[in-house]
Parts: sequence; structure tokens; C-alpha cells
Amino acid sequence: MLSDSYGRVATDLRVSLTDRCNLRCTYCMPPEGLDWLPTPELLTDDEVIRLIRIGVTQLGIREVRFTGGEPLLRRGLPSIVAATAALDPRPRIALTTNGIGLNRIAPTLAEAGLDRVNVSLDTVDADTFEKLTRRRRLDDVLAGLAAAAHAGLTPVKVNAVLMRDINDHEAPDLLAYCLEHGYQLRFIEQMPLDAQHRWQRATMVTADEILDRLSQAYTLTPADTAQRGSAPAELFWVDGGPATVGVIASVTRPFCGACNRVRLTADGQVRNCLFARKESDLRGPLRAGASDAELAERWRAAVATKLPGHGINDPSFLQPSRPMSAIGG
Ligand code: SAM
Ligand code: SF4
Repeated sequence: MLSDSYGRVATDLRVSLTDRCNLRCTYCMPPEGLDWLPTPELLTDDEVIRLIRIGVTQLGIREVRFTGGEPLLRRGLPSIVAATAALDPRPRIALTTNGIGLNRIAPTLAEAGLDRVNVSLDTVDADTFEKLTRRRRLDDVLAGLAAAAHAGLTPVKVNAVLMRDINDHEAPDLLAYCLEHGYQLRFIEQMPLDAQHRWQRATMVTADEILDRLSQAYTLTPADTAQRGSAPAELFWVDGGPATVGVIASVTRPFCGACNRVRLTADGQVRNCLFARKESDLRGPLRAGASDAELAERWRAAVATKLPGHGINDPSFLQPSRPMSAIGG
């Protein structure tokens, strides 16, 4: 098991397959993009699959989520999914994507064993989409969402970040769209993980504000919190249900005490927290010939030292040097 000194057990593995992306969301990257990781530093498909196998068969990982950067840019994604689905015990397999290209590849991924997707979409207005992502690709994302639902990658979840004076007034429109199409919408508070280090507490849109905005158009009632477990989203019934909307209040109502996640970066570093300032290298030992047992032991040691919380609200908080896109969100 991957346990830490506070009694938490990591069973949910987030695997970043690339740090590259075809969008430039303002809360994530600068317009010119970033210095991408050099290819030789990236884990190969076989290396990724080996580490996932160790996680699942020796360390108690029960859920694997592929992310990035934009994971659909990784050519080997279908075969990595298929190899993951062939493991015993078979983990649940999910994908977090910006949805571009999903309309073409959703059936292939479903066939390979992908169970469900989270698609990031912050607005259903084409101009606002361009302002936020610096690309005019709203229609591609909407087509990707529809294809995911059609391929049975359900429940299709939508992740949204609200930015003040850009899309915060559009939250009810986004919810209306998701309700109409049967997608489960969850708003994520903007976190200090942008490459530009521009995040400011004073301007971020808080969970309370998000709920206020939505309540102007819908009646929200808290859904059963006993069911929440380690899920980060607080769920609310919309107009009495059965549809729900979620809010992930990572900054204003942290849920670190219930965290069950561990992350593997595209260059083979284990991170025990999104906000960790230290990483543990698995790629070096792996390429130097380490056995499965040795890699598993390094991985256990990496999780054992997980801190109790992310500390965003402490005066001494320092943003990690890797941005979200290079960690795997
Ligand atoms: N490119 C894929 C996507 O956008 O879904 C996967 C990677 S992206 C880093 C994963 C999630 O992180 C997205 O839902 C995105 O909106 C969110 N995200 C990125 N930067 C963020 C930030 N500074 N605060 C909160 N969420 C952020
Ligand atoms: Fe790309 Fe996702 Fe970052 Fe947007 S949030 S720039 S889609 S990695």
C-alpha cells in the first residue's frame, strides 16, 4: 500500500502523459507556451505501462487517470489504456482532457478500456472560449463531449474554472448546457499553479461566489455529504435533482485530510501532492535497471513523506516550480 504518516492511503494514480498542449488557457500557461520537456526525458509507452503495472499489482492503485498537458496529444494513448485495462486487478480508467480531437478518438479509447472522461470547458460562448484559451476551438470541444457520451464514456464530467470578469457571469449558462446534455458539471477554484505565477487570492472566484452565481438561476441543495469520501467535489442537487453540480474548493475549503491521490509526471517523477516541492525520481532507477520491487519501494517512500496539507493558506506558502500542465492536473 501507498500510505503516509497521517493514515491516508493513495489508491488514485494520476499519470501525466505529456506536458504539451494545443490550448493556452490563461490560468495555466503563457501565450507562447512553455519549454516542453525534451523527448528523451519522457517515459516511453513501455516505461509508463511498467510503472502503472507496479502501482496496480503491488501498491494498491485502484484508479488510473491519464492527464497532462493534453493527453490526447500522446500517440500511444490507446495502447497505454489497453495495457492498463489488461491488468489484474483491473483498475478504473479515466481521462482528463480539453476535448480537442476526442470526437475522433472516443470510440477507440472506449474500445481500449477507457471507462470515463472529464472534459475541461469553462464557457459555451465562442468568444469567451477564445479569450480564455487563446484558441477558437469551442466547437471541437463540444463535438468531443458529444462523442464521449455517444461512446459510453460516462458519466461525462465537465471541469470548469471561473475567471473574474471573463467568464464568471456565464456559470449558469454553462450549467444549463450541461444539464441539457446530461454532463456532470464541477467548478474548480483557480489554484496557484499557473506557469506565469499570476494567481492572486484577492481576484480568484471562490466557491461561495460560484454558488451565489448559480443560485441566481437555480435552487441548489447540498447532496449527501456522507457519500463524498475522498471525492474533492461538494455536490448540490439542481432544482431538487436528480442532476447535480459540484464545486471543488481546493483553496477555500481544502480537503487534504481525505486525499487519496498520487501523481506520476511525464518524465517519471512521483509527486505525492499537486503542491509538493519535492519529487521522487523513478525514471533514473528504472533506466539503470532497478527491479519492480526496488521501484515499488522508492514509490512507497515517496508517498510516506506526504505533508498533511497543501499550505496554500499559510503565509509561508510557496508555489511549486512545476506548473499544473507539467505536473498533471
Ligand atoms: N489539458 C487537459 C485539460 O485541460 O483537461 C488536462 C490537463 S489540465 C492541467 C487539468 C485540469 O486542470 C483542467 O480541468 C484545467 O481546467 C485545470 N487547471 C489548470 N490550471 C488550473 C489552475 N491554475 N487552477 C485550477 N485548475 C486548473
Ligand atoms: Fe492545456 Fe489543460 Fe492547461 Fe488548458 S488547462 S492550457 S487545456 S493543459
